[in-house]
Amino acid sequence: MNQYAGAEGLARGRNVICDLRSDTVTRPDAEMRRAMAEAEVGDDVYGEDPEVNLLEAELAERLGKEAGLFLPSGTMSNLAAMLAHCARGDEAIVGAGYHVFLHEARGASVLGGIALSPVPLTDSGGVAAEAVAGAVQPDDPHCPVSRLLCLENTTGGRAVSLAETRAAADAARDAGLAVHLDGARFFNAVTALSCTPEDLAGLADSASVCLSKGLGAPAGSVLVGPSELIDRARRLRKMLGGGMRQAGVLAAAGRHALARNVAGLADDHRRAEALAAALAALGAGSVQQATNMVFFTPEAGAGAPLSAALAELGVIVSPQAPTMRLVLHRDIDDIALDLAMDAFRAHFGG
Ligand SMILES: *Cc1c(COP(=O)(O)O)cnc(C)c1O
Repeated sequence: MNQYAGAEGLARGRNVICDLRSDTVTRPDAEMRRAMAEAEVGDDVYGEDPEVNLLEAELAERLGKEAGLFLPSGTMSNLAAMLAHCARGDEAIVGAGYHVFLHEARGASVLGGIALSPVPLTDSGGVAAEAVAGAVQPDDPHCPVSRLLCLENTTGGRAVSLAETRAAADAARDAGLAVHLDGARFFNAVTALSCTPEDLAGLADSASVCLSKGLGAPAGSVLVGPSELIDRARRLRKMLGGGMRQAGVLAAAGRHALARNVAGLADDHRRAEALAAALAALGAGSVQQATNMVFFTPEAGAGAPLSAALAELGVIVSPQAPTMRLVLHRDIDDIALDLAMDAFRAHFGG
């Protein structure tokens, strides 16, 4: 069973006007498809795809890193990074609620022999410097070797502050660990923190950035970091089956997204605020919002009938209980958002 699948079936035969399940549902628009159609391509496993080479170099430069590597997914990007940082028997400290711990089938452990040590998240979604320091293993044959700290930003929609991120990263570095940042929604974080990409990426040794979430590309993630680490990750990408040939059609979508779609993330954040305010005004449950995500917890038992009623009106939400995650993205404009808010009001009589 897949926690995200199936909901679209609720809208069977109806026009889907607003899909709030995730920002991964964004479809490439006409301009992006044109960029893909016009992409110059070559064999990227041979290093000969010009679009891929440009994407890797441009994003590395934008984040202040030496090199980049294009991978098919964020999951493979994080996995290749963790395998490049750690040897079998090493340990990575991870936030207990982070994607690398909960939603990647523990690939780093299963495929890489890397132990994962989860530490609790702070209220703001970061990990406390003391928790990191406390999780570092002593140099003792009874223990794995602590090698890496994995951070995530944004996490559950929350943009973790630069100060909190720096404190955790410093605690890791003081203990000789490297730092990887899962930046699946890196540009949402940069937008919310009003910082530069370098400000955030500079706190980590490596960072993975998804192109297929709010940025709207159909697939792909870029891992950036020091050249020597990226060289190792390139071999690992091939080993993991992620070496793609004429990948320039995808890289062109990613370059287009990075050039054209970053500014629009602020609109997604604004629309999430508007949706949160509309839901709060209904008084039908608790509401939280951060960047492009709204978390709505209706009264017990009210979620399933709500999802069904919304689907009748072409508004699709994830059937997660008790808290619904509603995600704004570039395929939801102000008109679609208004229709979604009307659908919620119609159901709750607001
Ligand atoms: C989506 C996501 C990933 C993985 O991306 P995929 O492309 O779906 O594999 C990793 N980390 C976080 C925080 C994510 O939200």
